[in-house]
Amino acid sequence: MLPPPAGVLKLDQNEVPIPPPSHVVEAAAQALAAANWYQPAALYDEVRQLYAEYAGVDPQRVWLFPGADDFFEPLLRSAKTVAAPSPTYFLFEDQAQFHGAALIKTPLRGEDFRLDLAEFLNAAKKADAVYIDNPNNPTGQLLVKPSEVEEVLAIGKPTVVDEAYFEFSGVTAAALVEAWPNLAVVRTLSKAFLLAGFRVTPVIAGRGWRIHYNTVRFRVSLPSLAAARAALYKRDYVEEVVRQIREGARYLAEELPKLGVRVWPTHANFVLVRGPPGFAQTLRKYGVWVRDEEQRLGPGYARITVGTREINAQLVRTIKTAFATRQ
Ligand code: PMP
Repeated sequence: MLPPPAGVLKLDQNEVPIPPPSHVVEAAAQALAAANWYQPAALYDEVRQLYAEYAGVDPQRVWLFPGADDFFEPLLRSAKTVAAPSPTYFLFEDQAQFHGAALIKTPLRGEDFRLDLAEFLNAAKKADAVYIDNPNNPTGQLLVKPSEVEEVLAIGKPTVVDEAYFEFSGVTAAALVEAWPNLAVVRTLSKAFLLAGFRVTPVIAGRGWRIHYNTVRFRVSLPSLAAARAALYKRDYVEEVVRQIREGARYLAEELPKLGVRVWPTHANFVLVRGPPGFAQTLRKYGVWVRDEEQRLGPGYARITVGTREINAQLVRTIKTAFATRQ
């Protein structure tokens, strides 16, 4: 049996809990069955081209990586310091620590976890590189407008804008890449495209980023490229996924406060919530996995992936049961 165990509601890693469409899975299987080869350069280039059309950028600016972490790694190995909001994408923080890049953190402020731009610009001036997660994980909200991204870029540091949740937010800095060689916009096919298991992460990088074509082109596997190609060709399902998830987020924003759980507004496919202390741990005992944010944010904080209508209803029922005695 593949994880998670049967009956578990897995809402802890922000995958959209819907399987990929059959045309995508079939394309991957067919590519594997057809021949024993690594993957043709033409396929890598075709997916770049398709993604460039989707993103409205020059195909020369698009690179495909097997995960955002794969793109972050050389940056975090070479930069001694990186300016980043705090808290932000956990794996970025964790990976930075592993590679010895010290984060110059700008704490998100107030009830709505907003970024103080002036403070962030000061941090960026001191750092070797800059990371902005927009919308930010785990808080769910947009931290900067494209015009503010330009203020950061003007400082001249290599700057990563992580738009893993772009399909849900609709806000992007991708158009700035031509004018700003130091900008790299990280996207993903893991969320709204439903390809998390395939590991396909497009990065739209300005001319200043040194990326070695002959090595990166072999990293994303043949079935993953075939899946990405099929998904980008026939991508009408993405709109429907986004519609469902937005509806789900509205439902949770309505229902959870009735159970004493605070919900923050979101521009992504997850919500930051605050329930009773031990919220995530308690839900885990009931077979619902959500991301515990108590260590970073305080008692009761958690991040929950928004699901389909049935999944969200099941989540609400479980919260009712788990905390019934406390209300
Ligand atoms: N960036 C952010 C902000 C994320 O939250 C995630 C997924 N949790 C990723 C990147 C990972 O993207 P990928 O699956 O393409 O590695």
